[in-house]
Amino acid sequence: MKIDSATFIISNTDVSRCPKERVPEYAFIGRSNVGKSSLINMLTNHKKLAKTSGKPGKTQLINHFKINDNWFLVDLPGYGYASVSKTKRKDFQRFIKDYFLQREQLVNTFVLVDSRHAPQKIDLEFMEFLGENGVPFSIIFTKADKLGSSTLNKNITKYKKELLKTWESVPMNFTTSSESGMGKDEVLNFIHQTNEL
Ligand code: GDP
Repeated sequence: MKIDSATFIISNTDVSRCPKERVPEYAFIGRSNVGKSSLINMLTNHKKLAKTSGKPGKTQLINHFKINDNWFLVDLPGYGYASVSKTKRKDFQRFIKDYFLQREQLVNTFVLVDSRHAPQKIDLEFMEFLGENGVPFSIIFTKADKLGSSTLNKNITKYKKELLKTWESVPMNFTTSSESGMGKDEVLNFIHQTNEL
C-alpha cells in the first residue's frame, strides 16, 4: 500500500471524543522510547507526523491521523512511564483501557517492543490484557538495525519462546527499522489486506 496522505485529526484523552467516522483503525502502542514515533513517521513518509521525543511520557494523548482518506492511524501513549506519578499513571491507563474496550472500529493494535531487550513484564501483561478482551494485536520488533542479524534472530527467538508460555501460537509479528525502512512493506501490506470493517 502506498501512503498518499496523512493528516492529523485530533488528540484527546477520552475515547468518547475520538472521531465517530466508521473507518478501519490501527493503533500503535509501546513503552516510551521504543521507537513508536519514528516508526509512524517511517510508515507514513513524514519526518514529523508523530513527535519523536527524548523525554519519556510526553505524549499522553490518543492521537488520530487520517491516512489516504480511508483509515485511521492512532498513536497511543506509552504505558508504564517511570517518570510519571503513580496517580497520573493510573489515570492514563484507565483511558487507554477504555479506548481498547470501547473502540469498535479498531482492526489491529501494533504492540511495539525493542528488539534489543529481553521480554519485559509490562509488555507481556499488556498483550495479555488485549487477548483477554478479544482485542486483535500483532507485535513489532523495533530498531532492528541496532543489532547484527544473529543477535537479532536470537532475541526474537527468545521472545517468541516467552510468548508461547501464554499463547498457543506466536502472535503475528513484524521486524522493523525506522533507519533502514526494514519491515515497512510488510506492515503496510498487512494493513492493506485487513483494511475493512
Ligand atoms: P517513542 O518514544 O517510542 O516515540 O520513540 P522515538 O521514535 O522518539 O525513538 C526513541 C529514540 O530511538 C530516538 O532517539 C530515535 O532516533 C531512536 N530510534 C527509533 N527507531 C529507531 C530505529 O529503527 N533505529 C535506530 N537506530 N534508532 C531508532
